[in-house]
Amino acid sequence: MMKFLILLNLFLFSGFSFQVDNGKSVIIPLDNSNGVLTINNRTITILPHPVYPDKGFAIIPIDYYEKPHHLNAIWDEQEIHQNIDINITCAAYPTEVITVDSAKVCPPQEVLERIATEKAEAEHIYNTITPERYWNKPFMRPIDSITTSQYGSARTYNGVLKSYHGGVDFRALTPLPILASNDGVVVLAKERYYSGGTVIIDHGEGIYSCYFHLSEFNVKVGDPVVQGQNIALSGATGRITGPHLHFGFMIQGIQSDPIEFMAQIESLFHVAISSAPSNQSH
Ligand SMILES: [Zn+2]
Repeated sequence: MMKFLILLNLFLFSGFSFQVDNGKSVIIPLDNSNGVLTINNRTITILPHPVYPDKGFAIIPIDYYEKPHHLNAIWDEQEIHQNIDINITCAAYPTEVITVDSAKVCPPQEVLERIATEKAEAEHIYNTITPERYWNKPFMRPIDSITTSQYGSARTYNGVLKSYHGGVDFRALTPLPILASNDGVVVLAKERYYSGGTVIIDHGEGIYSCYFHLSEFNVKVGDPVVQGQNIALSGATGRITGPHLHFGFMIQGIQSDPIEFMAQIESLFHVAISSAPSNQSH
């Protein structure tokens, strides 16, 4: 009987599938936070649900440069061997042509070492996963202003295609207070070559929020912050066309659409539980 029920369970949920665009993240709800979730032999941390402690979820960030294909995630939990299909689709991101100070496109020799050091420092931060969760509510926008550039635009700087826009820009023509998107710990607060005045907050579990082009800091490395805390003033520092706030998220070392990510997390708080199958019926 037990075997029959397990087989029935696998059969019933064989079509368990999610769709996600490149550059965005998807939340996989799970019936509990036990077991092991793997994608291509890479282990994905299963996290306890913030509202229903007996449930679990996993965040799967998809890199911007991922091509459309199917990923097979496998959740092994006791007798259950659950296949979860993740269908990666191609987002229709716009193209932006931007003119900035030429030194911020082709940096002079003397700053190359500084740029490399700052890149390595950031990568070290983003690849560090703090097991503790600091947040217990949805993330909020760090500024009450309109969006001037969305995440994902392919960007041509001074006529050269350099990269894509890794965050969302908010209008801030005069210096405005920048608020922490959620509770966390400040892990970087300094002036950088490209991002100018920069604050990075560790929210735990591999989630980092980033605030660029700031003119003043109200926090320093090591400070615990609470959601809505005034951490800085916006500005026009680094590689910019004018004053604004650039706001981004790094999830498990992968840059992800901040608006989409915040919506995904918020759904955990507001949507009735609909999760992957478990063996609870056995
Ligand atoms: Zn930006």
